Amino acid sequence: MSHKQDAFYASVIRNFDKAAALTEYPSGLLEQIKACNAVYQMKFPVKLGDNYEVIEAYRVQHSHHRLPTKGGIRFSHLVNQEEVMALASLMTFKCAIVDVPFGGAKGGVKVSPRKYNAEQLEKITRRYTVELVRKNFIGPGIDVPAPDYGTGPREMAWILDTYQQMKNGELDSAGCVTGKPVHQNGIRGRTEATGRGVYYGLRELVNNKHAMKELGLDIGMAGKTMVIQGLGNVGSYTGLISQEEGDAKVIAISEIEGTILDKKGLDIKKLIAYRKEHGSILGFPGSKTLENRDDWVGIECDILVPAALESQIHKDNAADVKTKIVAEAANGPVTADAEEILVKKGVLVMADMYLNAGGVTVSYFEWLKNLSHIRFGRMSKRFDQNANNNLVDMVLRLTGKTLSQKERDLLTKGADEVDLVRSGLEETMVNSFNQIYEIYASRDKVKDFRSAAFISALDKVASDYMTLGVFP
Ligand code: GLU
Repeated sequence: MSHKQDAFYASVIRNFDKAAALTEYPSGLLEQIKACNAVYQMKFPVKLGDNYEVIEAYRVQHSHHRLPTKGGIRFSHLVNQEEVMALASLMTFKCAIVDVPFGGAKGGVKVSPRKYNAEQLEKITRRYTVELVRKNFIGPGIDVPAPDYGTGPREMAWILDTYQQMKNGELDSAGCVTGKPVHQNGIRGRTEATGRGVYYGLRELVNNKHAMKELGLDIGMAGKTMVIQGLGNVGSYTGLISQEEGDAKVIAISEIEGTILDKKGLDIKKLIAYRKEHGSILGFPGSKTLENRDDWVGIECDILVPAALESQIHKDNAADVKTKIVAEAANGPVTADAEEILVKKGVLVMADMYLNAGGVTVSYFEWLKNLSHIRFGRMSKRFDQNANNNLVDMVLRLTGKTLSQKERDLLTKGADEVDLVRSGLEETMVNSFNQIYEIYASRDKVKDFRSAAFISALDKVASDYMTLGVFP
């Protein structure tokens, strides 16, 4: 594992250079865009039970071309500086692609969350936050963390509380972190956002006639077979929403405990409940367990979804892939070496920096909500509902027809926060897909989707730098 992880940052750089070579920007500007602006490595002691442990942690701000910087915090025993640098770099391009006006950042704490209880994790999280505050590495206008692998709303609530204790009275303090619980200044729809964004991105691709012709696939999501690695936040919502809203068929799931397969399709909702009850996906009714967990890579399907960690499809297993679409729901799951092999095989790799940008997009909405101190829809929902009811009443009176209550509700409903969040997310994913696909399909030199995504990002970041006057 570790040799693959070390290669992660190198892989990001290689992909960047490949795309940058297809642009006309001055090399100095490209070097500036590529570089990590600030790397903060910390080591702090935490008393856990009778022992003191020295915890290694990081926060990397990749690009200050827009502020605040933004990106999640990862808790994993595999965290290292290069990994966090790679992830922070991806955040810059991700934000640019979906027009989220932030620079990229990422944090990492080198701990395995499963080794600690909630109280210990709280101590670690709060101490990490104190370190960030002390070095001015967190704040609604400075740097705004969010969940990532190994963290969730609970950790974000601890971060917010620690920040507010230290910054008593700061009006916009709730915007110092996103992905918070809904009742602690969070936003509805944030938890599902990355998976929902993956679904919207995939839906745009499979509804694109040109793309499906090139890949030799039928148009539409219905009936498409999917294999997903990882049943965490991203993998589970990707599977659930693809199944429920797209009628896709998830035939295999791979997790730490093993890989299960059912060609008739796995019911993801039931599988999640099963795992909660049994602590494992193995033995799920109707499924068979693969002898080798890692064989998920070679299962024949239409869409292969790595939704766990980086460097999962690498040069030693890329040849086994039997799919047409690799959907990077995780960050960096396909190495640069593997991508070369896949592209030669005619596989389309939907790049992470576009496909999993739903999380940061809804984080942006949460941040806006925090700065405006009001829930989306609070002012307009009832007004819209009343206006729609008046309109429906008028039409019914003029036509002499009637409607059932269900039909009326459908026509008159005013938008709630979650409706607005989903619609903003859908709009974002559709627009960005079109921007990237236009570059991919219309420029001969651009041979892969990732390079097209990078170019879309580079155009925006470069233009920001030029507006800043740093590069005339
Ligand atoms: N950790 C997520 C990502 O990799 C979300 C970041 C955010 O919301 O700031 O995109």
